Order: sequence, then C-alpha cells, then structure tokens
Amino acid sequence: MIYAANWKMNGNTRLINHMLSEIKLEVIPYISKSSEIILCLPSIFLGGAVISCKNTPIQVGAQDCSSHKDGAYTGEISAAMISDVGSEWLILGHSERRQYHKENNPLLYEKLLLAQAAGLKVIFCVGETYEQYLNGTAKEILVEQLSVLFDPSFINLNFIIAYEPVWAIGTGLVPELEDINLIHQFIKSSIFEKTERKSNVLVLYGGSVSPENVKQIKSLSNVDGVLVGGASLDPEKFKQICL
Ligand code: PEP
Repeated sequence: MIYAANWKMNGNTRLINHMLSEIKLEVIPYISKSSEIILCLPSIFLGGAVISCKNTPIQVGAQDCSSHKDGAYTGEISAAMISDVGSEWLILGHSERRQYHKENNPLLYEKLLLAQAAGLKVIFCVGETYEQYLNGTAKEILVEQLSVLFDPSFINLNFIIAYEPVWAIGTGLVPELEDINLIHQFIKSSIFEKTERKSNVLVLYGGSVSPENVKQIKSLSNVDGVLVGGASLDPEKFKQICL
C-alpha cells in the first residue's frame, strides 16, 4: 500500500519534524515492509526533509515543477533541482494546478518530459468535476487527462496515478466504494490498452480520505494506496490512515 501525503501550501519545519518522528516511531515498525510513505511537501522544505528521512523508508516528493528546463524564470523550481536535493517523487496534474494555473496536456507533457529526464517518479493526478460526474462524462474526461501519458515518449516513465474526483477534494464527500473500484479498474485498463506497458499501473485514491473511511477504501481490489490532503497535516490522523 502507498500512503502519499499532499501538504499543499501548508506546514512548517516544526510540523515536519513532529510528523517524521511520529511516522518513524509509531508507523514504520507496524506496517508491512512493502508499504511506502511519501511526503509531498512545499518545495522549500524538500532538502531538509530528505536529510531528516535518510536511513528511513520515508520518501519525499514535490507538488509541481516548472515546465522549463532552466533559465530566466524567476521563482520557478525545475525538476532537476527537485531531484538534486534528493527528492524522489513529484506530483503533476493536481486539480488545483489544473484549475488555478490552467494546466493542460501540452504543459503537462513538457513537465512529464522534464520529470522523466530528472529521474523523478511521478504521481499523476486525474479526476472529474462534480458537473462531469453528474452528466456522465467522467470516463471521457479521465481518458482525456490520461492521454498525455499514452505518448510513446513516456514508455519508461516511472509513474503512478492518483484518481482524485475534484468534488471529493476537501469536501468530506467520497464516491461510492464500488465506483472507486470500477474507476480504478478503468484507469488501469485504459493505460494498459493505450500503451506498450507490460505491467499494471498503480492507482491511488485521493479525496477526503480520513481515518474513518480509509479501511474500506484500502480494502478495494483496485486501490493501491491513498493520496491524502487535509488529514495528512494532522500527525495523529495520518498515523491512523497508515496503520
Ligand atoms: C488532495 O488535494 O490531493 C487531497 C486528496 O485533498 P483532501 O484529502 O483534503 O481531500
């Protein structure tokens, strides 16, 4: 099982230190060796977090990167820099980036190429809005969002998918369990059919995951882990989610 935390623009060094000591002492000894914990932090904290996570199974990730390789792009952070400080993961395509920064497939294509060149593992987020959910176009939208990954350039990209219905993010709403399982199956088979990949891609569920609902979500056959926003900022809640 993969437990990925997306802190968005929250947290500080104190919270990171607190979270890390809780995970080290109260989570890692009790979870299976094959479980993975990935903390996706604001970029400014990545280098420090990587040092603090040395010799632990906790992995560190960024939440976005520039679509440019390098150069005169004041304030931007490149995929190579994220990798240079020892961070292994990168979230791309989060719905907040799609919504507030108008991220689309051509832009994400550039970011994916740079992530791949930097050797980063990508958590690629997809998800429909409530309107799309209601009008029955969710699958179409998901395929459109996934289609950037169908490009042969990404045959060797190390990526997993996070299915995050936009209407479930931060709202306390969660799709029916059966729907989550079916959509995850749909995502896996779409990628399998449209690319030359030999193995099934892993798919995380994200959107209002909490200590209360996580057990049922994790029990679904097509769920390989969870991407947690709000609840990942509370060490007690995140601990309960991982256990
Ligand atoms: C997210 O935004 O990636 C997310 C899953 O948020 P939340 O858990 O707060 O719904």
